[in-house]
Amino acid sequence: MTDELRCIGCGAIIQTEDSDKAGYIPKSALEKQKDDIYCQRCFRLRHYNEIADVEYTDDDFLSFLNQLSQKDALIINVIDIFDFTGSIIPGLQRFVGNNPILMVGNKEDLLPKSLKRSRIKDWVRQSANKEGLRPIDVILTSAKKGFEIDQLLEKIEEYRNGRDVYVVGVTNVGKSTLINKIIQQLTGVKQLITTSKFPGTTLDRIEIPLDDGHFLIDTPGIIHRNQMAHYLAPKELRLVTPQKEIKPKVFQLQDQQTLFLSALARFDFISGTKDRNGIVVYLDNNLKIHRTKLINAEKFYQKHAGELLQPPTKDELETSFPKLVRYEFKTKEKSDLVFSGLGWITVPKDSVVAGWAPEGVGVSLRKAMI
Ligand code: GDP
Repeated sequence: MTDELRCIGCGAIIQTEDSDKAGYIPKSALEKQKDDIYCQRCFRLRHYNEIADVEYTDDDFLSFLNQLSQKDALIINVIDIFDFTGSIIPGLQRFVGNNPILMVGNKEDLLPKSLKRSRIKDWVRQSANKEGLRPIDVILTSAKKGFEIDQLLEKIEEYRNGRDVYVVGVTNVGKSTLINKIIQQLTGVKQLITTSKFPGTTLDRIEIPLDDGHFLIDTPGIIHRNQMAHYLAPKELRLVTPQKEIKPKVFQLQDQQTLFLSALARFDFISGTKDRNGIVVYLDNNLKIHRTKLINAEKFYQKHAGELLQPPTKDELETSFPKLVRYEFKTKEKSDLVFSGLGWITVPKDSVVAGWAPEGVGVSLRKAMI
């Protein structure tokens, strides 16, 4: 009987036997649920933003992605504009073959309102180009707030030309939220999902019927390990993931000064061209920033991490939270030092800086967004 049920989040067949495999839900939980059944992974993702690894191996994704080039379809790549590097699917352009990619920059609501949207779109396009992606168009959405969903549907109609539409994205970019908004818009019904199995692969998928007999097909989120989301407990993750429009914070830093971004990450301003160098921090508004001298930073961290500097808690630092790893950069232009999933710091041209992030979390330098 359980073979007939599908998770309405990811489309996997519901099963109660193997917690490491897709579609798992404990028997007791299954008995309590009635119509809309979520597998444990999707339930956690929805409620706690927690990622549980399941046995969708990289090979499964590769073979799935490989099939895209044989389709005649429009590909929608959903990315988190707040975590561009953490959103990239390596080699996507190759996988989609000649099919056009419409890039959806989601979580637009987090960016300061003062930023011109046209500039951000340009920035998304340039960043995509650098990753070898050539989107035919870029659109900014907020799946959470339901911004620009109409416009997205119009663009989809414009570019799909009577073809199917495949939606791809790594986990956490807001793909499920977006799909649900699309379904609402198309059907007026909350979470009406037609599911069917993707032929020839082990992956399940969700299909939304379009007017002309074609489908909009959602695909399982691909897990991107360089996201902060994989290193924090659900509670902390909620604390560090920006929830509201970000209010940038400006600091005037001298050479050899350090900022701690709670105890999650660290920024060293090693040298610049001025006495005081204006840097701007884009992080969740609630996250506390502490300034100290670089020379004292190590001691400061040892003394205060988990207490004055929190999250993570002392307990997490001692048990699960990875050590901070240092990456040094020299800027040739005004640049953003990006901490994947957390935010970024804008630094002037010709600065030497170091970013420290938990082992496994990406730190990178890009041309300033703003
Ligand atoms: P998926 O893994 O790509 O399917 O992502 P989800 O739809 O589960 O969303 C991941 C997290 O991002 C959740 O905490 C959502 O509430 C949040 N989220 C999704 N869309 C938006 C958005 O447009 N703006 C903001 N601020 N958060 C969003």
